[in-house]
Amino acid sequence: MSAPFPPTLFAGHHYGVAGLGRNGNAAVAALLAMGASVQAWDDRPEARAALADHPRLKVAPFANMLGLAALVLSPGIPHHLPSPHPLATMARDAGVPILSDAELLFRAVRAAGSQARFAGITGTNGKSTTTVLLAHMLACGGIAVAAGGNLGPAALSLPLLPDDGVYVLEMSSYMLERLEQLHFDAACLLNLTPDHLDRHGDMTGYTRAKMHVFDRQGPGDLAVLGATLPDYASLNRLLAPTRATVACISGADIPQCDFYCTPHALCDRHGVIADLTHVPDLPGTHNRENAAAATAMALHLGLPRAAVEGALRSFSALDHRQKTVGSIEGIRFINDSKATNADATARALACHERMVWIAGGTAKAGGIEPLAPLFGRVALALLIGRDAPVLARTLAQHKVPYRIVETLERAVPEAYEAARALGVDVVMLSPACASFDQFSGFEARGARFAALVAKPEGTGAQ
Ligand code: ADP
Repeated sequence: MSAPFPPTLFAGHHYGVAGLGRNGNAAVAALLAMGASVQAWDDRPEARAALADHPRLKVAPFANMLGLAALVLSPGIPHHLPSPHPLATMARDAGVPILSDAELLFRAVRAAGSQARFAGITGTNGKSTTTVLLAHMLACGGIAVAAGGNLGPAALSLPLLPDDGVYVLEMSSYMLERLEQLHFDAACLLNLTPDHLDRHGDMTGYTRAKMHVFDRQGPGDLAVLGATLPDYASLNRLLAPTRATVACISGADIPQCDFYCTPHALCDRHGVIADLTHVPDLPGTHNRENAAAATAMALHLGLPRAAVEGALRSFSALDHRQKTVGSIEGIRFINDSKATNADATARALACHERMVWIAGGTAKAGGIEPLAPLFGRVALALLIGRDAPVLARTLAQHKVPYRIVETLERAVPEAYEAARALGVDVVMLSPACASFDQFSGFEARGARFAALVAKPEGTGAQ
């Protein structure tokens, strides 16, 4: 159903790509494949060396930007706050637009003659889950779909979809600030808590950046707003002139919302859409918020109402986000390695009445004190990593049983034995800490946990 882009789509156009990470590399490859010529640069020699030679590719630092149709700037390079990167200033001085790869995808799709629709998802938390869930729901309904953006794959590595296809893009605030024409048929702002304020100045600037997801919307489009958004009423008012349909969504039981969740069901104004009792991979109110948002968008984009429940049931959580990685003799092992701060871990702890909890690594400011209201659920805490003693102090103050085990290699078998002895059926890795003291990142930490669970000798189970 999908196809490659025509090889002459951007022939005669000249683009700049600065920053050769995942997005930059995909942009270079896609633009060359569409017939454009490209000048690319990265200060890291190894990033430059990874580019294959191509007759229309020049790898050189930018002396100026004259003649460029646009500059694709890595999402990590600021064009505004805390201060514009010299490349951004150079582009501005030359009148060259700085565009996100999602914008170029949109232009390529339209230039190729496809009227495929676009869904855009942003917010502080839950973007990836909602993006993958929406794509899964549409695919379940037989709709051609391609998903990517901030969460891999990069927007410009997605294929050309036909008129009835849908692109589902996770949009970071940086990507949203670099759009000119891209318009989302269904757009969603899930939630906002302080984050990335160095790049946006303050919450007002951050909110303004996120609200760009609704730019250029009009009648017939859907704008999804999370009910927890600070100053919801004024954001709603800002959308009125677009005349898009606004849907308020919540993971809680708030019948005033257009989509909301009772303890057992996802509902809209017409009644129950889906029974949530057999949806194993979307635990917690936060995931219900994601489910409500994805459902609102999926229905707007043509998924039949009757297909929602099956799609939610067959959804498989993203790795490292409360993902069950194994069960041994009725004890579930859950990998929530993505939870690198207390806020994320709070959501995981709230999902289970009682558990053996594996935590630790490099603690964030504030440590795990904010989790104190949930400590009653912890039958035993097993602490790993550099700041295990810091976490231990907090647990001792709150009289939570704990052991410092230092490594995941020790934590997994000890967790299994403890769960058996204590009659607890959940073991959860939700570290509330960064991983860099022992791992290359949260993915490596979660993968190690999953590997240890998969190896029965590691747990002593037969
Ligand atoms: P993002 O892509 O925005 O980082 P993810 O879907 O990857 O979000 O989820 C990352 C973590 O954020 C999850 O493990 C969970 O702890 C938390 N989270 C997920 N969805 C929500 C939500 N709707 N509200 C608040 N926190 C959430």
